[in-house]
Amino acid sequence: MARYTGPVCKLCRREGEKLFLKGERCFSPKCAFERRSYAPGMHGRQAQFRRKESDYALQLRAKQKARRIYGVYERQFRRYFREAQRQKGLTGVNLLILLESRLDNAVYRLGFASSRSQARQLVLHGHFAVNGRKTNIPSYLVKPGDVISVRESSRGKAYFKEIAQTLDESRVPAWLSLDIPNLTGKVVDSPSRDDVDVTLNEHLIVEYYSR
Ligand code: SF4
Repeated sequence: MARYTGPVCKLCRREGEKLFLKGERCFSPKCAFERRSYAPGMHGRQAQFRRKESDYALQLRAKQKARRIYGVYERQFRRYFREAQRQKGLTGVNLLILLESRLDNAVYRLGFASSRSQARQLVLHGHFAVNGRKTNIPSYLVKPGDVISVRESSRGKAYFKEIAQTLDESRVPAWLSLDIPNLTGKVVDSPSRDDVDVTLNEHLIVEYYSR
C-alpha cells in the first residue's frame, strides 16, 4: 500500500479531531480543523448529523487514527499488532508502546522536530545516530540504554542550530532524557501507557483486529 501523500489536514477532519500532524501550524489560527471542523468532501457537513456510527466504524476510526498519528503503513501496523499479541501483557498497551518506541517518535518526543512526520524526514535523511551509528530507519525500535544523537556532520546545519534554542528538557517524557548542549537524548526506560501523549483507544484497535 502506498504512503498517503495527500493533504494531511484532511486526515484530522476525517477523524473529527486535531491529530497535530503539521507541527507549529497546528497551534496557529491557520489550522484547517479550527476553520472547518467537519469531515472533508461534498457531504462532510451533513455527515456530523448522521445516525450513530456502528461498532465497526468506531473500531476502524480508532485504528486509522493511531496509524495516522504515528505515520505507519497498514501492513506495518498489522505487524506491530501481531508482535504486540506475542508479547506478555495487554495487547493494546503493547501496541502503543511499540509505536511510541519508534525512532522517529523518539526524535519528535525529544523535541528535535515539530511533528512526527518531520522527525521521520530528519531520520530518513541520516541526521541521527543511535549508539554512535548512523541510523536512517524511522521504524527502528529504541530500547532502554540507547543514545540518540544528532550526527556530528549535521550539528552545524542551520536547522539544528535553531532547534537547539527551542529544546526544553521539561517537555521530554519520563522515558527519555535530553542533553541539550550535546544534542543527544537517552532512552532511560521503556515508555509506559501513560507516556502516550495522544488520545487513543487501544481497546477498539484490538477489537478491530480480533473480528
Ligand atoms: Fe490537523 Fe495540524 Fe492540519 Fe490542524 S494544522 S488540521 S491539527 S494537521
